[in-house]
Amino acid sequence: MIKTDNIRRIDRLASEHCLRKEDYLALLTTCTEAEDAYLAARALETKEAVYGNKIFIRGLIEISNICKNDCYYCGIRASNKNCERYRLTPDDILECCEEGYRLGFRTFVMQGGEDGYFSDERLVPLIKTIKERYPDCAVTLSLGERSYESYQALRKAGADRYLLRHETATPAHYRRLHPENLLWENRMACLENLRTLGYQVGAGFMVGSPFQTEEMLAWELCFIEKFKPDMCGIGPFIPHKDTAFADFGAGSVEMTCRLLACARLIHPTVLLPATTALGTMHPTGREMGILHGANVVMPNLSPASVRKKYMLYDNKRSDGDESAQALETVRAAMERIGCEIAVERGDRAGSDAD
Ligand code: SAM
Repeated sequence: MIKTDNIRRIDRLASEHCLRKEDYLALLTTCTEAEDAYLAARALETKEAVYGNKIFIRGLIEISNICKNDCYYCGIRASNKNCERYRLTPDDILECCEEGYRLGFRTFVMQGGEDGYFSDERLVPLIKTIKERYPDCAVTLSLGERSYESYQALRKAGADRYLLRHETATPAHYRRLHPENLLWENRMACLENLRTLGYQVGAGFMVGSPFQTEEMLAWELCFIEKFKPDMCGIGPFIPHKDTAFADFGAGSVEMTCRLLACARLIHPTVLLPATTALGTMHPTGREMGILHGANVVMPNLSPASVRKKYMLYDNKRSDGDESAQALETVRAAMERIGCEIAVERGDRAGSDAD
């Protein structure tokens, strides 16, 4: 193979796990098709060296679409009057876990808007019950920004992991995606607090969100290098018709895959989901993500009656092979690309829980 500048960058990234911002920018913007294929192959090889051909599954329970925040990009933002609101009860959630366990899930992810109903008083007994009933399972929370004391109480109750995408590593960009009461500094402080409390911490960002430049994407890779999240959600932005960003275009599948591959090379043990947004943008988006180094899929375990209401962006997929009940279809899709679904918690290799 001819050693072009980009091939040299990819080789350096695979062996040293870091690059200068300018080199990330060049990789993201000037890769030819052949160089892209080489990047994907190195990322896949790196993933296989750590996790073999295993794909970890998470049962995603969308516990509430009620949210006090008004993020400009999000379909469940507080000011969207067309969003039909719902919240699950603790019993509903326990039923989802029961079904999920039967299906083979060993991680339950409770995600939702910032809904005051889910106070520590409600969440603590719920988390304790899940951990008592399913001691071999991990509980992941994705419930937005909370106080240190709240994160501490939830961790004590047994929560293992927390997903809180930072959304953008560029503070000025964060300002353009959120109303004034939401601060990039708070988001980052939450991530630090979660880490201090011993959670496996998930950060992440949208690809192609309004006002994002390619240079900002290069900074995202620098952020991954520095923060080394245990999980990193990287998915395309997709517009929602009832938001301020309805008329913006969606992020690209190719750029998302390139970023996934770079993230894998920067941080070989990171847990990288092939996101629902990627699966929404392309019929085989999830498989493409996996072939670029992703190793997690998160099928939807929410009750069928509410799935269409957790509409973060237009046409979000929640049925078909995004549904937990269709795990056999996912299994077959994974087998077709040489991967195998693992019935286990799926902690990050080398983490304390591993
Ligand atoms: N409220 C929690 C929080 O803020 O982290 C969790 C729920 S929030 C809806 C989950 C993630 O959905 C966000 O972090 C964001 O990246 C993603 N999201 C929201 N709107 C989106 C859109 N239009 N396109 C793609 N992803 C979107």
